[in-house]
Amino acid sequence: MSGRTGEIYRVEWLPGTDVLHGTCHCGAEHTAEDPVAMWDWMLAHPQGHGLPGDGS
Ligand SMILES: [Zn+2]
Repeated sequence: MSGRTGEIYRVEWLPGTDVLHGTCHCGAEHTAEDPVAMWDWMLAHPQGHGLPGDGS
C-alpha cells in the first residue's frame, strides 16, 4: 500500500458471504461483491460517498 498519510481505507469480508464491506477515509461505507468495484468506489472518492455537508 502506498496511501498518503491520513487516507485510511478499510476493506473486510463479511463473514459467511462473498460481500466486501469497505470504509473510506472520509467515513463513507460501501458494500460490493466485486473487489474491483469496491476499489473503483474507493478511488472515485468523493463521488458516491455521501459526504456530510457535501455541497461544493
Ligand atoms: Zn470517501
